[in-house]
Amino acid sequence: MLSNLFKSKSLVVSYELFPPKTEKGVANLMKNVKQLMEHDPDFITCTYGAGGSTQAKTLEIIKQVKAEFSVPVASHLTCVGSTVDDLKKYLQSAKDAGVDYVVALRGDPPEGSDSFVQTEGGLGYANELVELIRKDFGDFGIAVAGYPEKHREAPSMDVDLDNLKRKVDAGADIILTQLFYENDDFFRFRDQCVAKGINIPIVPGLLPVTSLNQIQRIASLCGAKLPKAFVEKLAKKDDPEWQFEVGVSQAVEQTQGLLEGGVDGLHYYVLNKAGATKAILAAVDIASVRAK
Ligand code: FAD
Repeated sequence: MLSNLFKSKSLVVSYELFPPKTEKGVANLMKNVKQLMEHDPDFITCTYGAGGSTQAKTLEIIKQVKAEFSVPVASHLTCVGSTVDDLKKYLQSAKDAGVDYVVALRGDPPEGSDSFVQTEGGLGYANELVELIRKDFGDFGIAVAGYPEKHREAPSMDVDLDNLKRKVDAGADIILTQLFYENDDFFRFRDQCVAKGINIPIVPGLLPVTSLNQIQRIASLCGAKLPKAFVEKLAKKDDPEWQFEVGVSQAVEQTQGLLEGGVDGLHYYVLNKAGATKAILAAVDIASVRAK
């Protein structure tokens, strides 16, 4: 079980992949996962495209990762564009495919629309999906999303935390957070969760930046705050190697700060590339941290 994994380890490390569009992309991804296996992840997740567009690909990737690397795997799953029957069918195929955990999400609106619309016969919020999984597919470990800087649609942090608590009460085992770059936001969020009576592991999500373009795109997509000094440093030189080094050293510092703050785990949005995450985990000597 996912909650037992967190009880048995002092630090749980996980990676998040997305399904590539081409066969060449898949082959490349597997090469990168092989390199990332050197740091012995506890599980690997794969995202689920808007509107279920990558459904078959998501499952194919996690099946392949599990078969090649014998590591526990999680499928992300969203409510977008699916009826309850569709969701159950997907969960059954995930179960048949040996998927261990589900990251249960409401999902973002598909491209071209700016608000989430519940599908007729479908679900409106992630807590309902957690309920469905717990009721009909109780063997899956369940992760849900948490937002250290608040979900963009929530009217206040307090309301967002109440909604997070609904997902926990419905049976979530762990919380994986949205990416963030200021550790204080994470620690404040963790304290607020505890104050709300949320007592499951809260795992910070980290997206190592490797270029200025990338960070600006990501921040505009999810609304994460970017430290000014970090962005200024990245912008200093229009040189990919320099920007990679600056991004990695920021992520090393961020990871060290989180480790000092006693986090339950580290979830890296690796974006299908091994380089940055490998460099970070080597720099913080993750093997000896986990051996403690
Ligand atoms: P919910 O928890 O349902 O919350 C959505 C909004 O509704 C929030 O503002 C919340 O406060 C409010 N709310 C929640 N419950 C209720 C309720 N019962 N009544 C009233 N209001 C409520 N997106 C993808 O498309 N595919 C992915 O694979 C994917 N993976 C992700 C992985 C992680 C770790 C994270 C952090 C996000 C991921 N997302 C993914 C993005 C996610 O789908 C979006 O952030 C989405 O807008 C919200 O999803 P949620 O599960 O947090 O929704």
